[in-house]
Amino acid sequence: MAVVVYAESDNGQYKKSSFEAITYGKDLAKLLNISCIAVTIGSKGNENLGAFGADQHMHITGKMLATFNPQAYAKALSEIVTTNNGTVVIVSQTYNGKSLAPLVAIKQDAALVTGIVDMANTTNGFTVKKTTFSSKAIAHVSINQEKKVLTIIPNSYHTTKDSTDVEILEIDTQVTENDVNSLIVSTNKEIGKVPLTEAELVISGGRGLKGPENWHMVEDLADALGAATACSKPVSDMEWRPHSEHVGQTGITIKPNLYIAAGISGAIQHLAGVGSSKVICVINTDPEAPFFKAADYGIVGNALEVLPKLLQRVKELKN
Ligand SMILES: Cc1cc2nc3c(=O)[nH]c(=O)nc-3n(C[C@H](O)[C@H](O)[C@H](O)COP(=O)(O)OP(=O)(O)OC[C@H]3O[C@@H](n4cnc5c(N)ncnc54)[C@H](O)[C@@H]3O)c2cc1C
Repeated sequence: MAVVVYAESDNGQYKKSSFEAITYGKDLAKLLNISCIAVTIGSKGNENLGAFGADQHMHITGKMLATFNPQAYAKALSEIVTTNNGTVVIVSQTYNGKSLAPLVAIKQDAALVTGIVDMANTTNGFTVKKTTFSSKAIAHVSINQEKKVLTIIPNSYHTTKDSTDVEILEIDTQVTENDVNSLIVSTNKEIGKVPLTEAELVISGGRGLKGPENWHMVEDLADALGAATACSKPVSDMEWRPHSEHVGQTGITIKPNLYIAAGISGAIQHLAGVGSSKVICVINTDPEAPFFKAADYGIVGNALEVLPKLLQRVKELKN
């Protein structure tokens, strides 16, 4: 029996959330007294996954697996789960993970629980802790099914690293056009930007920034800190920023270590997507802005003056 962890990579680099998923898998495997198998599909990063807790690393190659295709990847991962008697499958809740996990659960006739934020409790059955109601509540879900597929929210679980090495076992899998009903013909990817869902630092702007002409202040600070940029819904509705940056109840849910919100009021629909951030810093001219109630740090001031000062300070510290 084994815990099987899908380790996602991009451009030859593992995502940080993959290391979190492997550490989660290792800790869970210890609790269940079984082994932890890390699986990479199509591409892989350079790090040795043994260092993060994998007892084995299986790398699946084959036609149709060069780029992510949910159905093709689900078939490949599911075959590994079956041949290695995997009882729990761990997938990071990234864009790809969200489409992969349900397909694997169907193939394995497994229970699927998404949005997990902590280690499972195995003392009496198998209970997991997950976010619910747009991250406004926590649910404890007891799983009775023997096979389980769990998705872990990025930045929810720690990583541990040591110097253990494992060999990579290459496996060729036969996935054909008949196994998928859609094919990705081409992708147009933004290069060099930190993906919002995986960013540890996010600088976000709202209507208080007055117009798109001021957004360079958000971008400059984000560049200096290696952060991703985000925005409130009205900002993307007015096309000051692309919809891909819209966070909140109707946008993307994020959980960075630091969320800096400039000129955002802190409406409940906005907080639904960012309220789980570890540290929140709010810049707002109105001391009564609701966002201050959710903030760890608050700056009462004009964002158009505060952001350049923050940038200058970051540059000074870097020098
Ligand atoms: C069903 C539904 C779903 C929604 N989903 C989302 C969602 O997913 N995400 C989302 O963001 N919203 C969502 N909304 C909209 C939400 O209710 C708010 O209207 C929106 O978040 C407000 O955006 P804002 O804070 O940028 O703008 P405003 O409400 O206009 O607030 C601007 C803030 O900037 C401050 N300010 C003004 N000038 C400055 C300055 N120079 N410097 C610093 N601060 C300044 C003001 O004091 C104010 O607090 C949703 C609403 C509904 C009804």
